[in-house]
Amino acid sequence: MAEFPKFEYLKAKGDNLEIGRIVGKAFGDQIVSVIEYMRSFYLKEFNLSFDQAFKLAESRLSFVKKELPQFVEELQGMAQGIGISFNDLFLLNSDEFLYEQKFASKGCTDVFLKTDGLLVGHTEDWLADFGNRMFILEADVSNKFDSLSFIALTYFGRLPGYSANLNSHGFASTSNGVHAFDFKPGVPKAFVNRYVLESGSMKEAVRKAGSLSRASGGTLNLVQGTEFASLELSANQFELLKYSQDRGVHTNHFISSAMNSLGTQSENSIKRLERANQMLNMVKQPPESFLHSILADHENAPHSICSHSADLIAKQKKSATLGAVMIDPSKKRFSVLTGSPCRGKFIDYYLK
Ligand SMILES: [Zn+2]
Repeated sequence: MAEFPKFEYLKAKGDNLEIGRIVGKAFGDQIVSVIEYMRSFYLKEFNLSFDQAFKLAESRLSFVKKELPQFVEELQGMAQGIGISFNDLFLLNSDEFLYEQKFASKGCTDVFLKTDGLLVGHTEDWLADFGNRMFILEADVSNKFDSLSFIALTYFGRLPGYSANLNSHGFASTSNGVHAFDFKPGVPKAFVNRYVLESGSMKEAVRKAGSLSRASGGTLNLVQGTEFASLELSANQFELLKYSQDRGVHTNHFISSAMNSLGTQSENSIKRLERANQMLNMVKQPPESFLHSILADHENAPHSICSHSADLIAKQKKSATLGAVMIDPSKKRFSVLTGSPCRGKFIDYYLK
């Protein structure tokens, strides 16, 4: 049985401001509750008041206003829809510099697999308390830059793009938190990911992420057409890691030779990478269901791919697997599982 009620599904249509407004109106109470949670989180973990944390994040705002004003509008719309200050939402979307070093390395596992299409499977891992703080957003966005639709597993209060995403160009992106050592004031990860999720091709994704004055690092796993790859990003450098075989794995550390010394390498992340590769090598032509088996695997616990939230809460651990996503971009299929992958069931959604 799933530990949480299944993620709610919201459809939104309009320009960025309107999309933000619709999300804010639909989930105002939940977003305010996240802000309250983060208020005590900043205090408990870093001895910072919300205002002090905002002051630290504020220098990032001028970069976003200059480089990605459309997503500032999206957050402004969300703030209007709820009736709260923009600054509160901006902090939730720029605060990775506070916690990344401590929390980013225990997290998401991504597995690529070629069956009749190209698939990517993703476990969504974050603080266990966020298990019921996500929803699925289907957005139909039109602005002066583009017109497209996308579907994204989205945290309350954060821009879509932070977890797993599929757009109407048949382009999928998923995100692995990585702590890169060269973080600095610049465009926060939430905005980089939001920008990349609208890409029409691998090349466009690399150009978009590569052209921004990034504040921090991370990895974006990308699938489009006949290719899958991991775009490893630090604030100052990036590398597109292409998988030559019909399968691949990425977790929460940089694995390309150009990037691997630029970020944290944790035992937890390395063990999950090794285990997923080991499982992929057990089967010659793995069926799609094998992807679910990998995401649900418990070998090497507490460094396992599936990290049950209920057990973790009991042991007062902080990070947990909150859900999983499997995407088949060629079929525009976005399958979502709520809670622990070993217990839950995937529900299929299709993007038109
Ligand atoms: Zn499990």
